[in-house]
Amino acid sequence: MPDLSTDAFFLAQCQQLGAQAAEQGESPVGAMVVRAGRVLAAATEATQSMHTITAHAELLALQAAREVLGHPNLSDCTLYSTHEPCVMCAYAIRYHGIGRVVYEQGSPYLGGASASGPILTTTQVPPHWAPPPTVKQWPSADEAAPTSAGQA
Ligand SMILES: [Zn+2]
Repeated sequence: MPDLSTDAFFLAQCQQLGAQAAEQGESPVGAMVVRAGRVLAAATEATQSMHTITAHAELLALQAAREVLGHPNLSDCTLYSTHEPCVMCAYAIRYHGIGRVVYEQGSPYLGGASASGPILTTTQVPPHWAPPPTVKQWPSADEAAPTSAGQA
């Protein structure tokens, strides 16, 4: 009988979810939110079927766990994932105060624990990605309202 409290057990469940995702043409990612040894939520990657890049398994699992608990505080929960949560999912993990994250495969470039630099402008992204956008904060120094020095 498996020990239901081990990381290996929950990661194996995530692997099964990831395999289900792959069978449906998705990236092979599965994620679960576990609280006190009980699975609150489980999700598979669904970016293709849901037509949105935000349908990462981790985000879907977090959303479902929040609905189960009825509040956004997931600090006493562990997020398990087949893959290192990306920076987008890492934002949500931090927002919800997840207390523990366990993953199996690292995510090169944009993993939430291993990415470095400003995500909007870094060129350290997967090779097939487009170049970073031109980024502008309004107003720039040139466009700022005249200062008192300019009115003198
Ligand atoms: Zn993600």
